[in-house]
Amino acid sequence: MSWGSVRGHDRVVDELRRAARSGRFPHALLFVGPEGVGKRTFALRLAQALLCEERPEAELEPCGSCPGCAQAEAQTHPDLLTAGRPEDKQELPIKVIRDLCDDFALKPARGGRKVAIVDDVDSMNEEAANAFLKTLEEPPPGAVLVLLGTSAERQLETVVSRCQVVRFDPLPVEVLAEALLERGVATEPSEATRLATLADGSFGRAVGLAAPDLGRYRRDLIDGLASEGGIDPAEQVKRLDAFAKQAGKESAAQRRRVRLMLWELARLFRGVLWQTAGLEPPSPDPDDRRAIARLAERLEPEDVFILAERAMDADFHVQRNLYMPLVLESLFHDLAKVVNRPGRP
Ligand SMILES: [Zn+2]
Repeated sequence: MSWGSVRGHDRVVDELRRAARSGRFPHALLFVGPEGVGKRTFALRLAQALLCEERPEAELEPCGSCPGCAQAEAQTHPDLLTAGRPEDKQELPIKVIRDLCDDFALKPARGGRKVAIVDDVDSMNEEAANAFLKTLEEPPPGAVLVLLGTSAERQLETVVSRCQVVRFDPLPVEVLAEALLERGVATEPSEATRLATLADGSFGRAVGLAAPDLGRYRRDLIDGLASEGGIDPAEQVKRLDAFAKQAGKESAAQRRRVRLMLWELARLFRGVLWQTAGLEPPSPDPDDRRAIARLAERLEPEDVFILAERAMDADFHVQRNLYMPLVLESLFHDLAKVVNRPGRP
């Protein structure tokens, strides 16, 4: 395994290689960028490169066959630590950070260095961040911490100032389409391109959007919002809840499905904004474009702003593990208030 398996982030690989060659590789990195573009996969590959026992650090290229590489690949390397927000928590608990810092301070088991990957730092509260600061500022010699979040603005200044911020871009449509074909998410190139265009550069979102029942549900929801009669909020909550439960019992999978749909709603309302501004909405789907045109005819631009904002708010709350039925009830209540109003004369 090498960097070749990490797609669409050559610029970041080059940046980090330059840092490694200069002999001043940062001891704390904050990866920021949209969800689902491969930051975690990238961090694991970086950890492998840093833990490789064959190649010199300056190359930052895992050999793929030494014991260090093999254990990093299998995520069983004793010096590769990972932490994140537990599924049932709204925040990254201070205990998780304390335990990680304690482990991190121990001598490396294989005699090299320690690498830690901390996921979900968007949800790290001040208390947990404070517990982290000393380790962030002065990690053990050679050790590297990689923090994964969506934006630097969501982190405390005290954390950002101790990290080298590394920005990840959405994956380009061609790169994403190719990856979808390769991994069997799509079988036809046209389908791969359609999914890649809809997914806004996120592999994770493209995989979610590929589910056949999602397409049907998405269509009904969007057409419902655009219809003359508007929506019945209670009915919509029930339907979205049922749709989420089709993902299985696991609450994280259900949340992912709901977030996917909230993202689709936000996209729909963005399209409506384009249309009200007299621009062609960037939607690859003719049925979506029809729904967008109908909504743009009926709604004032300020209403559309409110709708888009409500969808993104709801997404944030679902991500933060707030009680989902309440989030959805309040969302559909607010959407109905706007879309059920009689249209402009
Ligand atoms: Zn190696």
